[in-house]
Amino acid sequence: MGAVINIQSAFAIRRETVAPEIFYRYKDFLLQCLQLNESREPEEIFRRLIKVAGSVFPFEAVALLWRQSFDEGFYLKFEHELSAGLDKQLRWVERSGYVNWVARSKQIAVVPPETDDKLKQAIALMPLNSGKTLYGVIVFFLRGNGAEITTFQTDLMTFLAGQAAIAFENATLYQNMALQNQAIRSMKSFLENSLESMADGLFAMDLENRITLFNSAAEKLLGPSRAVAIGGHAQDIFAKDFVRFLDHAVEMTLTVGHFEEEMDYQHPFDHRTFPLSLRMTPLRDESGKEIGVIAVCRDVSERRELVHLRQLEQMKEEFISSVSHELRTPLTAIKSFTEILLQYGREDEASQKEFLTIIARETDRLIDLINDLLDVSKLSNPEFRLDLEPVDMTQVVKESLRGLAVLAAEKKIQIDQHLDPENRFVLGDKKRLVQVMVNLVGNAIKFSPESGKIEIRTEKLSGKRRRDAGDFLLVAVKDNGIGIPREAQRTIFEKFTQITSRTEAKPHGSGLGLHICKQIVEKLGGNIWVESEVGKGSTFYFTVPLAEGRGERDDEKLGTQ
Ligand code: ADP
Repeated sequence: MGAVINIQSAFAIRRETVAPEIFYRYKDFLLQCLQLNESREPEEIFRRLIKVAGSVFPFEAVALLWRQSFDEGFYLKFEHELSAGLDKQLRWVERSGYVNWVARSKQIAVVPPETDDKLKQAIALMPLNSGKTLYGVIVFFLRGNGAEITTFQTDLMTFLAGQAAIAFENATLYQNMALQNQAIRSMKSFLENSLESMADGLFAMDLENRITLFNSAAEKLLGPSRAVAIGGHAQDIFAKDFVRFLDHAVEMTLTVGHFEEEMDYQHPFDHRTFPLSLRMTPLRDESGKEIGVIAVCRDVSERRELVHLRQLEQMKEEFISSVSHELRTPLTAIKSFTEILLQYGREDEASQKEFLTIIARETDRLIDLINDLLDVSKLSNPEFRLDLEPVDMTQVVKESLRGLAVLAAEKKIQIDQHLDPENRFVLGDKKRLVQVMVNLVGNAIKFSPESGKIEIRTEKLSGKRRRDAGDFLLVAVKDNGIGIPREAQRTIFEKFTQITSRTEAKPHGSGLGLHICKQIVEKLGGNIWVESEVGKGSTFYFTVPLAEGRGERDDEKLGTQ
């Protein structure tokens, strides 16, 4: 490394301040130096730099050694007229430590040719540093032997180097920024693509409930187009119900930090109502301040359907076990009494009759149960159609009471009838309507106390529902029995449900009666529901379409048809 000492002792040129008047004489040079900064391209800056440097001293070739960002080494970034021979010499210059010395001292150095041919011509090394940061070192292969370079020339070069360093620094910053922008842009488009490809609806709102983001799934799910939604206020875009729900969600999100709930959403265009789950979290700026909320929503009908199916599955299992039990009870009775009869029956005629009565009753119970089961399966077939014809409701009530009179009399139950004489004819299936009435009145008797009171009422009801074309007959069966708890009122119409209190004896029946009623009434185009209060009694209502014009007709005429 003798060469380095050589530089320091003999060739290192001190930076001196150049008098303003001298710089003034070199106005063009200075202007050209300043113009380096106009370019954003490092290679262009290098070309301009060579041109300016050429006006200060003559040289044969130039190499720009750029500092590696990750270690102290350099690499050849740009060159001008660098022949293979000069390239070899350049490597020697690097190896000898000149480049590092210039980089560390940040001073221009001129190295004369070496006698042993390793460096055939003089070189000038110029550091490119801006402040403390060194970007690179420029090596000029000079035309002379270097001795003719004056301090003034090196001062000009120092100025040029400083300007070039700034120009390179700016270009690098600019390129980094461009890269960063590109990265941000691609990140943004990546995020946008992800948002778009999400199956879940996603939207964001600011604190004034203005929509700031709305992906296409949200568009599909909620209805409004993105063009309408973005920038608009929630209350101008969504239906009142949903706005109220959103207000509640935002309030919860901003106080508790998150929100997750389901609601029944009605699509504004196809009017389909589906369960919508909405999850909301706050949106914050860099300082952590809340600036809005972001919401993810999803149609959860499938999930609900699954839950429902699972419940049905469970109910079915319970049903099978309860049906097996129901079947076994009468069968066991029949079997036991038959065996007794076979063994001792002949001896006592009175017991014989009693046992046979029990067997007959239990057999009836079995038949009823099996008929119910068959009905459920028949009625749940969507293809199954009822025979529709004008049916006189007063006849239906009469027939159904015929079979129940004994039961009612046993419990001393009084049955009152208030049947609308003007509106007697409904469009239905007589046998099935009798079945509905037998079920409802039978239950009313079953769940009423001794000396209870039952009231059957019919009246004309104007169609309230949108799709109801005509008018309906409302049939009500009222009792003052045990009543039905509120939470059970909805489920009793479902398949296989039976309210059983553990403390009371299990009521007779399969839990299918009301389900069958519901299936029949709905197949006829009506509705069935209950109003009840525990301890006070229940009223079961159902509707059936009135047979058009029949109400005004003469009873006799219809009878002859
Ligand atoms: P079941 O054949 O077992 O009576 P239903 O489907 O007819 O089955 O009735 C289901 C359940 O609803 C009954 O088990 C009973 O708990 C309740 N229920 C039905 N009607 C009445 C009523 N009038 N009063 C009180 N509870 C009733």
